[in-house]
Amino acid sequence: MVGVLSAHASVVSRVESQKPLVVILMGPPGAGKGTHAGPLSVHLGIPHISTGDLFREHFRQQTLLGKQAKEYIDRGNLVPDELVLNMLFDRVSQEDCKAGYILDGFPRTLLQARSLDERLIGKVQLVVLNLNLPDERIVERITGRIACKDCGRPYHKTFDPPKVAAICDVCGGLLFQRADDTVAVVRQRLEVYRSQTAPLIDHYAQQHVLKEIDSQNEKGVVLRECLEALPSLPATQDIR
Ligand code: AMP
Repeated sequence: MVGVLSAHASVVSRVESQKPLVVILMGPPGAGKGTHAGPLSVHLGIPHISTGDLFREHFRQQTLLGKQAKEYIDRGNLVPDELVLNMLFDRVSQEDCKAGYILDGFPRTLLQARSLDERLIGKVQLVVLNLNLPDERIVERITGRIACKDCGRPYHKTFDPPKVAAICDVCGGLLFQRADDTVAVVRQRLEVYRSQTAPLIDHYAQQHVLKEIDSQNEKGVVLRECLEALPSLPATQDIR
């Protein structure tokens, strides 16, 4: 009987493993979602999709969506669900997402999570990595963070500074600080996180797809924990 059960389990896990992998990075602002998404994307060979980056790109291009979103972003509030959902679903419909993708900053509300569930249910292997960081560390992390304008590589002024001030080690681009990474806006973003996004932890715990990650550790340690929490399996099916 045990043999039959384990044979069945291995068939189930093999069928599961053939599905594309969708990884959701959850956690408060500053927990390291953006920092770990890049290396995870390289390791897993699937794209990193950040809704915050998509909005910032829209703003750079001066699109209507970019201008609408900026009003909310600058105050530390969430952009309305319908604007986020259209943009995100449009992005994950693209060719490079057919084997899976890593979501950073989405979903942030229960409505977004349920819309994603409807789209993905039964079609993918979903893993939600919940990056934990105590409140007192959040503000120091966010207010010190900077990133390259050209390649997006993140740095921290104190904990992970570039070799030459304000210049990216990787591509030589200029480093900048986000306008919403100020103490006042970070406090509002934390409030919004607690009231609207933290309830998603239960939502995914109920689906048995949640993995807790301690994000206080050094970068390499956290990345290894994230990788160990993920199935290292090839994706074969088109989920767009
Ligand atoms: P992030 O780069 O993930 O910190 O996002 C920056 C800002 O973009 C957030 O504070 C929100 O204003 C907005 N934003 C990003 N993703 C979402 C989302 N899924 N839902 C609503 N607003 C979002």
